[in-house]
Amino acid sequence: MTQLNASEIVVLTSIQQSGGISRKALAEKTGLSQASITKITHRLGRDDYIREGERVGTGMGRKEVLLYPNPGKFKFLGVDIGGHRLRIALADYRYELIRVEQYLMEELERKDDVLRELADKLRSFLEACGETSVDAIGVGVTGIVDIGRQTILNIPNLDRWNDVNIVGALSDRFGCPVYLEESGRTMAFAEKLAGKAKDESDFIVVHVAYGVVAGIYTSGRPLRGAGNVGGLLGHITADEKGTRCRCGNYGCLENIVTYPMLEGEYRRRGGGAASLAEAYGINDKIALDVLIEAGKAIGIALSNVVNLFNPQTIYLGGPVFDRFPIVFEEVRRTVLLRANRFATVAMALDRTTFGDRQGLLGALTLAGTSFVASLET
Ligand SMILES: [Zn+2]
Repeated sequence: MTQLNASEIVVLTSIQQSGGISRKALAEKTGLSQASITKITHRLGRDDYIREGERVGTGMGRKEVLLYPNPGKFKFLGVDIGGHRLRIALADYRYELIRVEQYLMEELERKDDVLRELADKLRSFLEACGETSVDAIGVGVTGIVDIGRQTILNIPNLDRWNDVNIVGALSDRFGCPVYLEESGRTMAFAEKLAGKAKDESDFIVVHVAYGVVAGIYTSGRPLRGAGNVGGLLGHITADEKGTRCRCGNYGCLENIVTYPMLEGEYRRRGGGAASLAEAYGINDKIALDVLIEAGKAIGIALSNVVNLFNPQTIYLGGPVFDRFPIVFEEVRRTVLLRANRFATVAMALDRTTFGDRQGLLGALTLAGTSFVASLET
């Protein structure tokens, strides 16, 4: 693989993240001189990393050529390991998804060797794509990750993923670099590198599905904490009298607001519709109560996070927000009511860019950016 110097990587990364950028804008963005940009983009073009696109007018001056990453230069495999679902995607260097598959984690849990089963699934997925190899694999996990040892320490909802050396196993099997990260953080990477948070230095991504995960960017960097556990929003205590969570604690937020918990609560209160979604569709009182309480619980948790981190934007995503817009509205109402008004005055609440596929895009952007950074001489 061709090596690149530090400036070439900065320029290539800026082009990748821009969605089309002129040489002049690149100089402004990177702080490099026009002459350096001309030299670097010439080299990147010659080695096929970037392509020239259309010319665009910039007012009085001459027209500028926009530069794009060459989508075919690299292929990345993204693996999103959730508590409930495994999702796999192949993407090009513009993070366009070429193929996506999903499986239930239960299916892997039944096997003796979960890593071998996962690797077999990835191998047949690649065969179905007509590929024999990829440039890098990114893995996002809804659990605790030891970043130094590149090992999954624990996935709270699953039994067979304790102290699993996934990076070693997959890099042996596929002969390419493998990058591992907790999935709240990968979802924040996706928002920062390919989504709406490109120009933001302080923001939070929250995803609610079968679990609750969050990624926090503070002063332009992802929050990790001393042991890479920072941002574990799903397992903060939301109800001290609540039931025991799979993590060992009681009354975790994740035990109240996830999709199966909401469905279960609706049943416990005597809800009779076929599903919570159906009940919500006909404005069923029990369903609305359950969902408003969930929105309130997420909103209270986030109000505390807002006071601690003072984000520019909170991005909310995942099936709970997709299916029940009332939860989003209740989160917004509660955060604006409870968080400090000086922290919320200029703060926005928005939906995540990739919705249900945020984790997949997260694993792919993790693979892409880590791989390109590794090309440095
Ligand atoms: Zn918990």
